[in-house]
Amino acid sequence: MDRYQSFARSGFGRFVVGKLGLPDPYPLRRHSPTQPPLDGPVLLGGSGRLVEPVGAALGSIGLDVVSESPRYGALVFDATGIDSTERLRELHEFFHPVIRSLGPCGRVVVLGTPPASAASQVAQRALEGFVRSVGKELKRGGTAQLVYVAEGAEGSVGSTLRFLLSGRSAYVSGQVIRIGTGPIEVPEDWSRPLAGKVALVTGASRGIGAAIAEVLGRDGAHVVCLDVPAQGDELSAVANRVRGSTIQLDITSAGAPARIVEHVTQRHGGVDIVVHNAGITRDRTLGRMDEGRWDAVVAVNLASQERVNQALFDSGALRPNGRVIGVSSIAGIAGNVGQTNYATTKAGVIGMVDSLSAQVAGTGTTVNAVAPGFIETRMTAAVPLFIREAGRRMNSLSQGGLPVDVAETIAWFAHPASGGVNGNVVRVCGQSLLGA
Ligand code: NAD
Repeated sequence: MDRYQSFARSGFGRFVVGKLGLPDPYPLRRHSPTQPPLDGPVLLGGSGRLVEPVGAALGSIGLDVVSESPRYGALVFDATGIDSTERLRELHEFFHPVIRSLGPCGRVVVLGTPPASAASQVAQRALEGFVRSVGKELKRGGTAQLVYVAEGAEGSVGSTLRFLLSGRSAYVSGQVIRIGTGPIEVPEDWSRPLAGKVALVTGASRGIGAAIAEVLGRDGAHVVCLDVPAQGDELSAVANRVRGSTIQLDITSAGAPARIVEHVTQRHGGVDIVVHNAGITRDRTLGRMDEGRWDAVVAVNLASQERVNQALFDSGALRPNGRVIGVSSIAGIAGNVGQTNYATTKAGVIGMVDSLSAQVAGTGTTVNAVAPGFIETRMTAAVPLFIREAGRRMNSLSQGGLPVDVAETIAWFAHPASGGVNGNVVRVCGQSLLGA
């Protein structure tokens, strides 16, 4: 808990926050293996093609689906049946009577059909405005998402519901997720879905990268942790914790792609999951930015990732049903003062997702990215106090996220049952007001 959050939770703080209408950062419920995924039962409504398969999926996750309760852990609405503007009132009919009975850290999930292929493109597109507004209205750690499920992908929603209807998605809100058809591998043990998989995580020695290594390791993957030689000690400590291994290299060096391919092929027979997390900032406003700052950021955050991807695809080192996962940033969506170089590369990561995901469509491999907002790391601890406080509070959850929140989102992309999740860029930003 940050200091303001502790204050807002104290007796006096609660009074001041309430009276002055200040941000109220509710403590988020995060994943714990010893706790149920939600703090209450699920109400499932709607009349489309997803009610039945989603009902079955909720049951297999172990969630309690009820028709009435004084308090709900989640409200899930199948809006695929909404085929006209008039029928949008079904959203109001379902949510209006129950939205105030959603418990702390409750979940709202609306399921739709991708607008371009829907009977009413207008009505399905309209769902976005509804969900994004609900996300902004929910108090006490609640989140809201829209999931567009393509025709024929009804059986592909399980891993996404597991993610959204749990503390794993604590800091994800106001997102639009698209699910298509794709191979679904059902893991033998849902608590270790990545057992037998090999994951490569760049920039794994600290911060978000270390959390990604830990979560993928927790989920059963062997994690190859990569970072620059200068981070060797920290890197080994992370690799030991996750019982993984290390590669020390600079990803911008000319031989890096070949060395990565050689390492994963010789030691592991290939790689299943690649997380391009390594990233740097070299901030200056454009007029004061020398070319060294520009080039360094482009080299680490984008060019090296393109070269590594190319080498992994060309050599066949990325095994079938592979997962390529980028780390963008809300700066790449909204832009940021002093970050023309960084935002260029982070928007480029989104371009990489768009282009590669189209290339791999139908092969079983997926390409997605996370776009973190304000995450509590060494990178953000170095930001001047006032800007830091603004970054922390200017989102629907009024707090910064934790590295584990980014890592859990990546673990959902990496999941063997997420074969239908391709071409998504999901913001892990508490529904940041930046670039909303
Ligand atoms: P960090 O600086 O703590 O970690 C980045 C890691 O990448 C470091 O261990 C570093 O040594 C490694 N790295 C840098 N250059 C490298 C190179 N040439 N070769 C190999 N490794 C290299 O940063 P973080 O906050 O953990 O950020 C991780 C990722 O998340 C970055 O891509 C960053 O842009 C992105 N991100 C962070 C935030 C945030 O709030 N912290 C927000 C949005 C996006």
